[in-house]
Amino acid sequence: MALIVHKYGGTSMGSTERIRNVARRVAKWARAGHQMVVVPSAMSGETNRLLGLARELAPEAPDTSYSRELDALAATGEQASSALLAIALQSLGQPSVSYAGWQVGIKTNNAYNKARIESIDDARVLADLNAGKVVIITGFQGVDDEGNITTLGRGGSDTSAVAIAVALKAHECLIYTDVDGVYTTDPRVVPEARRLQTVSFEEMLEMASLGSKVLQIRSVEFAGKYKMPMRVLSSFTDWDIDINEEAKSGTLISFEEDENMEKAIVSGIAFNRDEAKVSVLGVPDTPGIAAQILCAVADANIEVDVIIQNISKDGKTDFSFTVHSNDFAKTVELLKSTVVPQLGAQEVTGDAKICKVSIVGIGMRSHVGVASKMFRVLAEEGINIQMISTSEIKTSVVIDEKYMELAVRALHKAFGLDQPAV
Ligand code: ADP
Ligand code: ASP
Ligand code: MG
Repeated sequence: MALIVHKYGGTSMGSTERIRNVARRVAKWARAGHQMVVVPSAMSGETNRLLGLARELAPEAPDTSYSRELDALAATGEQASSALLAIALQSLGQPSVSYAGWQVGIKTNNAYNKARIESIDDARVLADLNAGKVVIITGFQGVDDEGNITTLGRGGSDTSAVAIAVALKAHECLIYTDVDGVYTTDPRVVPEARRLQTVSFEEMLEMASLGSKVLQIRSVEFAGKYKMPMRVLSSFTDWDIDINEEAKSGTLISFEEDENMEKAIVSGIAFNRDEAKVSVLGVPDTPGIAAQILCAVADANIEVDVIIQNISKDGKTDFSFTVHSNDFAKTVELLKSTVVPQLGAQEVTGDAKICKVSIVGIGMRSHVGVASKMFRVLAEEGINIQMISTSEIKTSVVIDEKYMELAVRALHKAFGLDQPAV
């Protein structure tokens, strides 16, 4: 008998029929003697629907104008699905209780829409578990010190689940979703993508941060920090499959590197369509310019990703970087109004139709020529590379958005990811 946390994503909770199946699966685990905590997402489409209603009422305002109310609104999606799951479990004869994050002391900071979990009060949950109940806790949300409801950012239920598992010292956190594990790349883009039986924590961290939305990056960070065993698996298998078989299915996020991982030089390909490129043209090539541009951007709370500075010609240079596409208009405006006049730069240009494609693998540490192979593959497809960024276990390129699928498919093939691992 162990304390297990299950997380079910939006598609897995997408209809009453699917909720009933989740309930049957959870009841099976409880009958096998496990103490069960379940963290559901809102039913699929619900978070977007709610945020869409707000946009109808305030179309002009940037999302930040109503941050507090938007979080209060979005959090209701998970409250509804949690209560529905508790009802489904009770109707199967399985005692169960649902709680919103604030009811079990999920304390966060007050950064609306990207709040971070600071502490969780486990007493109430443990008492219910000891009384034989399945405890359901809303994903995606918490409460700040002043009692305001906060949310953790899109995809945040993954992070709720891992944080709850850590707080309760669970045996394992199982992330049930609409694919049966972590693949070499998004199987919806490359049908030949293969499921990985294990993926190292570091690779998963890179893949999540580079755009593989199968797990929210902060859930992976949490799991790594507290060494919480974490597995991604399908909620679409028959609910009554053998529990031991189910427990071994999917993809394990591993904290130990084994030899096989080193064998695969590239383990996965991630892509991100949500970035935009901004260039400040004709800035003087003198010390402190990069700091001046990027400090202005950071002061406006805008995160910068890939950065590139060209060589100078006639003492002038061009400086480009990428930001999240939501911040694109704000960044261009800011640079035009302050930085350009201050620095005497020529102009600011932008391109929102770009994407970032990355290859990831811990084997890259010990192999040379991986990045050059990536560039060659892209060149053979006639794809122009606009920016490059590397780290020990990844190489990313920024390219025209219209070539994204072509680039991902070509790289997937060239690095042998469509072939069964040896
Ligand atoms: P949930 O609603 O269960 O949280 P998400 O939509 O957030 O599910 O994440 C699952 C989706 O992630 C899959 O349907 C798949 O399209 C996408 N995805 C992206 N990259 C990968 C990958 N490398 N492996 C598996 N799925 C991936
Ligand atoms: N419902 C939230 C979202 O759509 C959180 C989640 O699904 O993890 O982003
Ligand atoms: Mg998700």
